[in-house]
Amino acid sequence: MKQTAPRILYGDIVAETIRQQVAIDVTKFTETHSRSPHIAVVLSHETEPSKIYVARKIEACQAVGIRSTAISQPCTQKQELISIISRLNNDPDIDAILVQLPLFPGIDPLAITDIIDPKKDVDCFSAYNLGKLVQGRTDGLIPCTPKGIVKLLQYYSIPIQGQNIAIVGRSTIVGKPLSLLLSSNSSWGNATTSLLHSHTQNMASITKKADIIIVAAGVPGLISGDMISSGAIVVDVGINRVMNTNGSSKLCGDVEMSSVLNKVSAITPVPRGVGPMTVASLLENTLLCAEKRTTI
Ligand code: NAD
Repeated sequence: MKQTAPRILYGDIVAETIRQQVAIDVTKFTETHSRSPHIAVVLSHETEPSKIYVARKIEACQAVGIRSTAISQPCTQKQELISIISRLNNDPDIDAILVQLPLFPGIDPLAITDIIDPKKDVDCFSAYNLGKLVQGRTDGLIPCTPKGIVKLLQYYSIPIQGQNIAIVGRSTIVGKPLSLLLSSNSSWGNATTSLLHSHTQNMASITKKADIIIVAAGVPGLISGDMISSGAIVVDVGINRVMNTNGSSKLCGDVEMSSVLNKVSAITPVPRGVGPMTVASLLENTLLCAEKRTTI
């Protein structure tokens, strides 16, 4: 059955409202502490997408008055990266540390994210900060993409509490912490979550029962119209570059738009969906790191 046109949940609109508030709060912080919050962004393995993501993050920081230092230093050995992070951990002028992933092949990201000072762990990747999320403590740092997704849903007044939410993808950056956040007994959650992954059998039997489907797998076209129920809400986290027939390329998510659009009641676009929310959350988290460090 054909639905009325779905609502498009633009993340860039929501991100702009967050940026405006962060800019106001950064000005207050700077007046009170005679210094602005300061983030260090470490690019240790240069790939084209990573370079673009780092540039965007630095630009976004500058726009709201957050100081940023980009450390672009190729590291093929774990120890080289550990030295950089140790120096940043001990630098009193650095509030937040972001290590851009992926790292050089063979370097275990967990070995790196775990040595970031938890107070400066702006992406909330360390075992300490993720552990707090496991304990249901959602008052501190929350990983940027999961935080951005929940704020996006809240902005568009999409109910979360009591909803059945299927999350496709169990990465430590998106799927797993998102599942913890949405199922937490807090204003961020109280949903019933299912965490689907590459070994899930008959995914459609679960996604079809979901009120909200959030897909973060990095597989173009993974979710098609026959896998969702009529009126479902879909959040597409995936960012994939695919080739057009004429040799040019374009960005797409993990959702097969052609078959999904006429079934959903609301959906995020790619681009202009979750991506800008992740960057906005990074700004919020940087300010939070700076504020928490001044109150310790
Ligand atoms: P990842 O590669 O670390 O994890 C992918 C997950 O998807 C794994 O848990 C895997 O089990 C699951 N998966 C893979 N193939 C599957 C399949 N066929 N069926 C079911 N599950 C499958 O990825 P990630 O870092 O979480 O990123 C996922 C996607 O989200 C990527 O496209 C990435 O670029 C994008 N991303 C976007 C943002 C944003 O801000 N929009 C942020 C982070 C990641």
